[in-house]
Amino acid sequence: MSACILDNASKVEQESLAHTLALRELNKPTFDSFKECVDCGLEIPLARRQFAKGITRCVDCQEIVEIKRGKR
Ligand SMILES: [Zn+2]
Repeated sequence: MSACILDNASKVEQESLAHTLALRELNKPTFDSFKECVDCGLEIPLARRQFAKGITRCVDCQEIVEIKRGKR
């Protein structure tokens, strides 16, 4: 009986961990960063591409996009 409860507890723990990991996956882009900026076509530095996944713009163009989004 007690072994059964322990098994159950660890199963719940694993499911909650899997759920947390799944949520974390959802919140980050799944594709690799672009080699070239989608706006100006300039090569995005490797360091920037590796810093975060899903980078599609160079620093300058990203800044312009953020300004356009209303951060000015
Ligand atoms: Zn650019």
